[in-house]
Amino acid sequence: MQDKRIITKSPVRVSFRRAVVITLFTLALSQIVTGLAILVCDIPNYILSEVVVIWFALAAICATTVTFPLALVFQRERKKLALAIHQLEEVHAEHARRARLDPLTGLLNREAFLSRISRYQERQVSGAMLMIDIDHFKQINDTYGHHAGDKALQLIAGALNEATRDEDIVGRIGGEEFGIFVPGENIELARLIAERVRLAIAGIEFEPEANTTARITASIGVAPGTVSSQTSDLLRMADKRMYAAKHSGRNRVSVHKAA
Ligand code: GH3
Ligand code: MG
Ligand code: MG
Repeated sequence: MQDKRIITKSPVRVSFRRAVVITLFTLALSQIVTGLAILVCDIPNYILSEVVVIWFALAAICATTVTFPLALVFQRERKKLALAIHQLEEVHAEHARRARLDPLTGLLNREAFLSRISRYQERQVSGAMLMIDIDHFKQINDTYGHHAGDKALQLIAGALNEATRDEDIVGRIGGEEFGIFVPGENIELARLIAERVRLAIAGIEFEPEANTTARITASIGVAPGTVSSQTSDLLRMADKRMYAAKHSGRNRVSVHKAA
């Protein structure tokens, strides 16, 4: 897929008013300097009036003819530079955003998902981990093709976003596996969100081909966490529960026993 062009050309407008102000300032300065120069130089009286007029006139001409165009050019270059810096900042922000997101689903990728969780943990916020694995996903690819599989993954991402709250962290861990971190120690809430996610996925209206609907379901493992829980342990526990959900018939939620 070709990158959308981010840099846009916009006209660089220069302010004539500012150029006039700069020119007037230079003009005043040139006249002051000329006056001082005349005072310092010991000019004979008989040529003083001509010299004064010529010096002041020359100073005025130089100041206006040189300063005005230069002020316009400098302003133009300065604005071009400011525009280029702004565009670079936008490109940088866009690249940083894309580096965090999974390109297919728009969800956080694995690294960004784990990094967001560690930010919670640094603030001593514990949370439950939900591991979601789509059931028999290979069959979707095998029956309808990889493109339909991709479309299903996008619909699943939408369902995950709809079933979760703003404070929950949703990410694509890899392939057809997703993770959700539910902040807080309320395991009942985590179970409820897992159930909501399961129903949201089961409710997806997926039409891989015209006039054909296919059912999508997921098995979900839930692992409760405490402030001292390590993310890797949570992932392992949730993964174990997810496999337990698979073995007990799929399309279900399994919560870690200790809870
Ligand atoms: P189970 O219920 O046991 O989880 O079965 P499953 O078929 O979902 O599991 P399996 O691990 O056998 O297959 C996962 C499939 O997911 C295989 C792989 O091709 C597919 N897959 C992974 N990533 C993508 C992707 O980005 N797009 C598509 N279309 N398919 C993907
Ligand atoms: Mg899997
Ligand atoms: Mg699967």
